[in-house]
Amino acid sequence: MTKLKEMNNPELQEHYTSLVRNYETFQSQKLALNMSRGVPCPEQLDLSAGIIDCLQVNDYKSANGTDCRNYGGVEGIPEARELFSQVLEVSPNEIIIGGNSSLTLMHDLMARAVLRGLPDSATPWGKLPQVKFLCPSPGYDRHFAICEYLGIEMIPIPYRENGPDMDLVEQLAAADESVKGIFCVPKYSNPTGITYSDAVVERLAAMPAKAADFRIFWDNAYTIHHLTDKPAQLADILTACKKAGNPDRVFIFCSTSKVTFPGSGLAMVAASGTNTNWLKKQINIQTIGPDKMNQLRQVRFFKDQAGIEDHMRKHAAIIKPKFDLVLEILEAGLGGKELATWSKPQGGYFISLDTLPGCAKKVIAKTSSAGVALTPAGATFPYGKDPEDKNIRLAPTFPPLAELKQAMELLALCIELVSTEQELK
Ligand code: PLP
Repeated sequence: MTKLKEMNNPELQEHYTSLVRNYETFQSQKLALNMSRGVPCPEQLDLSAGIIDCLQVNDYKSANGTDCRNYGGVEGIPEARELFSQVLEVSPNEIIIGGNSSLTLMHDLMARAVLRGLPDSATPWGKLPQVKFLCPSPGYDRHFAICEYLGIEMIPIPYRENGPDMDLVEQLAAADESVKGIFCVPKYSNPTGITYSDAVVERLAAMPAKAADFRIFWDNAYTIHHLTDKPAQLADILTACKKAGNPDRVFIFCSTSKVTFPGSGLAMVAASGTNTNWLKKQINIQTIGPDKMNQLRQVRFFKDQAGIEDHMRKHAAIIKPKFDLVLEILEAGLGGKELATWSKPQGGYFISLDTLPGCAKKVIAKTSSAGVALTPAGATFPYGKDPEDKNIRLAPTFPPLAELKQAMELLALCIELVSTEQELK
């Protein structure tokens, strides 16, 4: 195969003409496909159908006798705390089970820090002249939206193979009192698929931070979303923080959104006793209690941790072929051409693709003009600004295989087309 760089101008022109012809063929098909949504497909949702009717009419009491139909129990029911504390590897009294969205928990915690401050804040963040957050990028756009909404300045941190660039993280956290925390998706990261190494976890837990109320927002959304039978191992951050003498440094978030139903899963937050006791009092002002009936339903449905693991294997059986297809088409269309690199994730919901610098926006505009919607270019970076305009987040789970095939073939073509245009200039 001849690489673009090795072609002379007439060869490039001829190649370009043939790519344009292929592109026009795609356009004539009037596709209307969407590969931007990182959501479960209907077959995945069907796996949890049993959650709807797993409670009998007289099954409404939790293990401690609480009537789950009524108000109360801000920290969640004991059996849900017990079950999900195993998933998050914390003790049951270090976890709060909330409503349906972990993003809400993150948003509200950040808002509380801004309005009132955290347990060890001398001043509410909103009263400080400047508050900054470290944002490993590419990352999750909704984390960035929370920071932007609350006026928190984001500092993008590049990724290395095993997590964020820790030299830079340590340097910024140690030097600047206005750096109040870091957003992390530590396992099967959105979108890079990276799982942080033990060394990265230890460094985050132990590094000196100039802000006494520095916090790690540890969004472990994909902790049980394996695509293979050899799950990635992530070190236990809460224990690492305790060992390092920083027990209150971390808040861990998770949910069953992409395990059961995204609109009605269970969200949870785990942290030290100091943090969870403080948070319970805060949440108590906001609500008289979470949806405990849903907590009971989820516990009855899964029964135990083995039940959750078994359920996740069924998810993997549905979505792994979709990830495989995307990777196959990328390899077939772009392999060896030096026009793009892409992740080969072992879990999570995304494939992260990098085009040549300066191409991502144009590629996405081209796929869009031929009827395939992708996540907007730049969305994976703070303020929507990808400094190299090269990252594209692919979400393979929702479309059926046949649609995924068409969308990916078009994407591979558009990457070659835009790269050739660039080379011709
Ligand atoms: N965190 C990450 C990293 C995600 O990718 C998502 C959804 O895509 C969420 C959180 C949303 O979680 P929830 O549905 O619990 O609000």
